Order: sequence, then structure tokens, then C-alpha cells
Amino acid sequence: MPRRSAAALATSGEVFRLIRTGEAVTRAEIGRVTGLSRPAVALRVTELLDRGLIVEDTEGPSTGGRPPARLAFNAAGGVVLVASLGASRTQIAVCDLAGRVHAREDLVIDVEEGPGVVLPLLLDTWERLLAALPGAGVRGVGMGVPATVEFAAGRTESARVMASWTGVVIPPIIAQRFPVPVFVDNDVNVIAIGEHHAAYAGEVDDLLFVKIATRIGSGVISGGRILRGALGAAGEIGHIPVRDGGGVLCRCGNVDCLDSVASGTAILRDLRARGREVSALPDVVALVRAGDAETMAVIRDAARKLGEVVASAVNLLNPAVVVLGGDVAEAFQPLVSGVREVVYRRSTALATRNLRIERSRLGPGAGITGCAVMVLEHILSAEAVDAAMAAPFPGEQGSGAAVLDQAVQGAF
Ligand SMILES: [Zn+2]
Repeated sequence: MPRRSAAALATSGEVFRLIRTGEAVTRAEIGRVTGLSRPAVALRVTELLDRGLIVEDTEGPSTGGRPPARLAFNAAGGVVLVASLGASRTQIAVCDLAGRVHAREDLVIDVEEGPGVVLPLLLDTWERLLAALPGAGVRGVGMGVPATVEFAAGRTESARVMASWTGVVIPPIIAQRFPVPVFVDNDVNVIAIGEHHAAYAGEVDDLLFVKIATRIGSGVISGGRILRGALGAAGEIGHIPVRDGGGVLCRCGNVDCLDSVASGTAILRDLRARGREVSALPDVVALVRAGDAETMAVIRDAARKLGEVVASAVNLLNPAVVVLGGDVAEAFQPLVSGVREVVYRRSTALATRNLRIERSRLGPGAGITGCAVMVLEHILSAEAVDAAMAAPFPGEQGSGAAVLDQAVQGAF
């Protein structure tokens, strides 16, 4: 049988992908999977070893005779800097190339202080964390911010929480201190990526994550990848209008957006309008525990409106799982059950046949994981590795890490 021509063209980047995913971990396996000749496999493997992207394990199991050397992804070959910015709390970490957290610090920063205050604080924190990890080469940066983000440019648009961030192009600011590829996405997208990767990868390819907190947003994983849309505005579920919303003006300028009638902010506002003294979510939790009928009615109403919009999203996207996260979803089981009930009643039979509607499994840590996965997916992609291979050999221009970063930066 003739070898497939596509297989014969497997690049170093593709060989790297096979090793990283564990699909092929010896030279013989790589040859079998790709159809490359032995010298061609050897050439690519040597390149990857030289660049520090893989390591060779010569201690394989002793089975008599010399075992084939096993190749492995070199997760220790560098680090990525990640930060998941929330309205009031920001999680900052340094992760290895497998996304494992090596150092972490949570900061209480009011993002409304603006990028001029928050970004230098972030950069200083990363530097402090790096100081405890000597020799760690920074390969990339991944950030989640509470705003819609034009992904390719890393530019924030219509910031959900903070007006001072609107129109800010973040990557060049970060790159002044850390000249590596910088990826910025909205906070809900990175949480969706993190939740999918840590709790559902290999099990579910189509997932809708809905964050119900001070604001409402969603992240869509479709075919295993985040769906960003043409510019990065996909998933803005909070600005889909509901029926019978009562004519509430949303801060986006439209009327009866889901965000303006069912978010944590809306629940607090509605309870105050009914004479309840509530300043924050714990007050609402206390009223629910006390069995306050008015509070239960407000939460049921929010659940109905959420359910209505999530049902439409389910019809459009046919996810396998809808994950409900954010502190409002975490605090109120009746809200989650209410959404579930409406979705099963209103979505099509086929879309709900195997549909699971679950609460977030990861909770607040999902943002950090998601930021790491987002940046690693890019800098370790077959294309990025191939671009690095096309760059001058690292021996002449500093470390392999620097060459990889320059190449990646050029490619994106
Ligand atoms: Zn709106």
C-alpha cells in the first residue's frame, strides 16, 4: 500500500505534537504513525532535542536487551506567566509548560483602578514569583480580563466592569517587561477553557459555560476549542434580551438584557426594591436560609429568565454539558435546578437527549488553568514549533527559548 503523501510530509512540529500527546513516544512509533523514513524521523527528533522541547529517557524498562529510548515532552523547558483578573480579586501564577502551577499569589486589587495601576502590579508580582524559580525561561503570557476582548489584538472592548480599561491594548505593555507572546481573552472564556481542560477533556468536546456572578457571561467550547467568533465577542449571553423583562435598561443601551434582569446585581436590586436590606450576596444567602418567600420568588424569576436564554443557546449549539459557575450559581442550588427545569422543557428533544447541566467542578481555580492552557495551546502548537525550527539555530542567538519566542511572536 502506498504511503499517504500527507503523512510523508509530517514536520518537526507534528512530530512534537505526537510526542507531547503521547501518541508516539519512540522513534519507531513516530515512523509508523507518520510514514517518515528512519533518517527523517531521526532528523526531526534531533532538532526537537536540541531546542529543549523534548527529552530522551534512556532508562526505559529493563526487558533484556537495549529498550528503545522513550521521548517525552519537556514540561520543565520553560514557564508561562498567567493572571486571571476579576473585578475585585486577581489570581497570578507561574506555570510550567504542562500548565502546572509552580508559584501563585492572589491579590486583592480593584480593577477599576485602571491598567496604569493594575498592570505594573501584575508585572511586579510575576517578577517576585519568578525570583523564587531561578533559571525559569519565560515562554509566554496568558491573561483573562473582565471585558470583551478582541482576541487577535489583545484589545479590551466594552469593559464589563471597568470603563478605564476600554480600548486598552494589553500585549505591548506586558511585552515591554517580558518580550514573549502575550494572549489576552475575556475572563469567562478562560474559565470555560480551564473547566473544559481540567474536568471534561477527552470526555466532552462541546460545552457551554455560563458564569452567573455580578455579571452574566458565557464561554463556548465547540469541537474541543473555544469559540471566539469573528472578533472575539462570541458568548456574550448576558446581552441577549429576555421576554417579560419589565423594561430594564441595560448598561449596553438595550432593554431587558439577561444581565440586567438575572445577574447578581439584578437580584440585589430587585430585593432592595422589595424592601430587603441586602448589600452583597451573603445577605441574600441568609434570606434564603431563613426561608424568605420574597427572596425565593426573586431567585426563581432569575432562574426562569436564565433558563429561557440558556435553552436558546442549547438549541443553537447543542452542547453535551452546560456548566453553571460564578458565585451566584455556587450559592443557590434552587437557581441551578430552576435553569435545568426550563432548559429541559424548552430546548429541542434532540439537543436535550443526553444534555447534562452541572455546577462548576473547578470553582475559582479555573481561571488560572484556563490562562495557562490558552497560552500553551498557542506557543506549543505544531505551527509555532515549525516556525521556531525555521529560525536561526539557538547556539548563535542565545537560548532555544528565546528563539522559540521570537518565532512564535512573528507567527502571530
Ligand atoms: Zn445589555
